[in-house]
Formats: sequence, C-alpha cells, structure tokens
Amino acid sequence: MAEEYDLVVLGGGTGGYVAAVRASQLGLKTAIVESGKLGGTCLHRGCIPSKALLRSAEVYKQTKEADTYGIETSEPTLNFFKVQERKQSIVDTLHKGVQGLMKQGKIDVYEGFGRILGPSIFSPSAGTISVEMNNGEENEMLIPKNVLVATGSSPRTLPGLEVDEQFVMTSDEALSMEELPSSIVIVGGGVIGIEWASMLADFGVEVTVLEYLDRILPTEDHEVAKEMTRLMKKKGVKLVTGTKVMGDTLKKEQGIEIQAERNGETETYKADRMLVSVGRTPNVKNIGLENTDIQVENGAIQTNKYYQTKESHIYAIGDVIGGMQLAHVASHEGIIAVEHMSEQDPLPMDMEQVPSCIYSNPEVASVGLTEEQAKEQGYDVKTGKFSFKAIGKALVFGDTDGFVKIVADKQTDDLLGVHMLGPHVTDMISEAGLAKVLDATPWEIAHSIHPHPTLSEVMGEAALAVDGKQIHG
Ligand code: NAD
Repeated sequence: MAEEYDLVVLGGGTGGYVAAVRASQLGLKTAIVESGKLGGTCLHRGCIPSKALLRSAEVYKQTKEADTYGIETSEPTLNFFKVQERKQSIVDTLHKGVQGLMKQGKIDVYEGFGRILGPSIFSPSAGTISVEMNNGEENEMLIPKNVLVATGSSPRTLPGLEVDEQFVMTSDEALSMEELPSSIVIVGGGVIGIEWASMLADFGVEVTVLEYLDRILPTEDHEVAKEMTRLMKKKGVKLVTGTKVMGDTLKKEQGIEIQAERNGETETYKADRMLVSVGRTPNVKNIGLENTDIQVENGAIQTNKYYQTKESHIYAIGDVIGGMQLAHVASHEGIIAVEHMSEQDPLPMDMEQVPSCIYSNPEVASVGLTEEQAKEQGYDVKTGKFSFKAIGKALVFGDTDGFVKIVADKQTDDLLGVHMLGPHVTDMISEAGLAKVLDATPWEIAHSIHPHPTLSEVMGEAALAVDGKQIHG
C-alpha cells in the first residue's frame, strides 16, 4: 500500500521526533519511520540513561560523605539492580511522553526500517520510502514531498577490537550492565570516556583511562582539561595520555589484557572489562543513499545551512551529518530544516552559540571559542576567571571545585567564549549561551544582577574579572 505525506522523517531520535512535532504544528502531514524505539540514542542509549546512572553515583558518593554535613549514617550499600531499575523507569516515562507527542501531533509512526528509493513508478524523483516493517508484514511505501534523514550515529570501535558485551563494551552495552566490574579500562578520554570514568569511580570501580592525545577532553579549554585531570586523579582515576591502544593485542579470559604504545614503549593493561569510547560514526549505511545524488564525505551526509542535501527535497540533520554530535544540535537543526521546507525563512544556526555539556562530577560546560582557538583565529584576547571557592552558595552546597573562565576580545569587548567546570554548570551555561546570541559584552553580563547567594554569582564575578574588577577575589 502507498501513502502520501508532506514529510517523512527517517529516524525517531531527538532530532527526528522534534522535527516531526514542528512539522505537524506547521500543518504538514507527517510520518516517522523508526526501527527501534522513539527517542533514539539520546533517550534509550545515551543522554538520559547515562545521566540517571551518574545521578545515582553522585548520591552514593554524597551519602558516603554525609558525615561532612553533620549527618551520621552507617556505610551505604550499593544496589546496582535498583540503580538500573530507576534508570529504566525514567527512560520508560519519557518514552511514553514521546509516544504521546506523536499522537497529539497526529504523526503516523511506522515501526520498521526505512530506505530511500530512486525514481520509480511512485515518483519521478528519488525519495519514496520503503519501510521493512518490524512485524514482518509487507513493506509499506510512503510517498513524501520532503524527506528528513535523521538516522543518527553508532559507537565507533578500533581495528581488531570486537565488542562482545561481556568483556568489551561501547556505551550502548555499558548502559545495561547488570553488575559493576571491579576494574575497567576506558579507551578514549573524550566526553563519553570522562563521564563514565567519573561515574564508575564514584561507584567504587578501579578506573584507568587511556587517551591517545596529550590531554583528556581535547576539545575543551586547556585550563578546564588541566583542572579536570587533577580532579579525576583525586577521585582515584588513573589517566594515561599520549597512549595508543592497539586493538589487535586484546586477550580475553577472566578479564581483558591489552597493549598500548606510549613514547615508543609497549605497556600492558589488565582489567575486568573494557569500555571503548573513541567517537561515533554517522548511520549512512543501508538507507538507500546510493539511489540518490546525496553526497557523503568522511562518512557524513553533506548539506547546506538549511540542511538540504544535493536532492533539495531531501534534508538531513543530527549525528548523520557529523559536526557537533549533540541532541540539542540535532533538534535545533530539525526545526530549521522543517521551517525551511515550509518556507518559514528560519535563521541558520551559529555553531559558536551552541553550548556543550559533560555530566561528569564535577560537570563541564562551554560555549564559543576556547582561549587557544580565539588566539589561533587572530583575536587579541583578554580573559577573566573566577573560582567557586569564593562563592558562598558553593561552600553551602559543599562543592567548591572548579571555576568559570570568560574569553573576550580586547579590542571590541566582544564575548568569544565561556568555559565552566564545577557544580551545576550544565544548568548555568544557558546564561552564557544567551549572552552569545545577544552579542553581550562581559560588562553587560556583570551588569545583569546575579542573586545572592547563588552559584550563578560565579558568572558575574568572572565577567568582572575580565577587566580585573571582581569583588571577592
Ligand atoms: P570524543 O570524540 O569526545 O572522544 C574520543 C576520544 O578518544 C578522543 O579524545 C580521542 O583522542 C580518543 N581516541 C581515539 N582513538 C584512540 C585510541 N586508539 N587510543 C586511545 N584514545 C583514542 O568521542 P566520545 O567520547 O566517544 O563521544 C562521541 C560523541 O558523542 C561526541 O561527539 C560527544 O560530543 C557525544 N556525546 C555527548 C555527550 C554530552 O553532550 N554530554 C555525552 C556523550 C556523548
């Protein structure tokens, strides 16, 4: 059977379902094709479940430290089964919410795997979607005016390193571990590596992180990465940088044994399990791109600033187009794409205004250029930095590690970047994001009144510090 639509979205992850909601608001007859569960990686194998586990790790650690707050308890016991149950119930609640949104928007959901067909009896141009239904019924044919490819990404691994769920995991398998290992080797000290290192160390696991580059969190400001290195070590995490893991040396028996090359020497690492977090690959395979003129470079679909591919009625957004692989980027791109196909004249996205967050303990958040990037781009830079140690609410909260650093242009006073490390900074970065959108100067940020006592005062003080005018430090 063939059904006509204004828009068919391939992939019901955060990018895809948000785009579908916007399309329905704009009056488009919309369908989503999803082979797994609505909500995709972010809801089922990424952001939400990992943050639920991180929160349990934080509570466990804080309970152990309750004495510091004047609360005497017996030694807490970790029930990892319940931790996983809590995680799953949060995911299930949100999953129901997304299903409800589809019903509310009268968006048809096809549970199956969609492929783009070339010109056919259904349409003279490429873009008809053939859906191989999960329930084994005959393929559905969807004939859309526009297509949005939002198929996301999958964890990458290393040559010779096969994921087997028991010894070698990516974040997908790690999220459903039934029990904690007593030791783990994490390959890659990027976002996923550091979130898992922080969580597992707080749960009491012996953690070793092996990072290829000369520092962890290579995309963050160097001062943030340096302080994070100190704090992870304080937690007991062993961080080894400048180390290339050789996947084909893996031996598995009771646990894993793997070799890594460092300064020309070979070192051997042993642990119960291993987590590979070396980036994610866009999901471009098997979706029928070969039937179209869509261009793929370095594994990612190429688009213009409105997310149109070479086939102007086929758009692509989110992890499948590479760049910043973040849920909030995907959903924003989805809205722009749908508004563009509906001739709404949307504003293209400025990547320098996109905040990124790492939910380790302590958290990291940033927006705009790092100090190094600003200098490389030829800016004459001035910076202001303020520590949580002089913020009353941070002392009350019992968490004074970290700081906020503001990077500004010495010539124009323009705000170039904001970099945060510390308690709840992922909830505070939006102020910096708004400041970037409104092109605010550090003076304007400081002029906006930060209530006392709040953690947000650190932002006002860092803004004052850009011109040496901070009050408490
Ligand atoms: P990443 O790119 O952030 O980090 C991968 C790290 O692995 C890099 O530091 C790299 O140098 C290192 N590496 C690569 N090969 C290596 C080798 N052979 N030996 C040792 N180290 C090696 O990738 P990720 O952490 O896997 O995350 C994937 C994507 O998912 C990223 O785009 C990330 O932004 C996104 N993500 C975001 C969040 C969040 O927003 N909080 C959470 C999870 C994932």
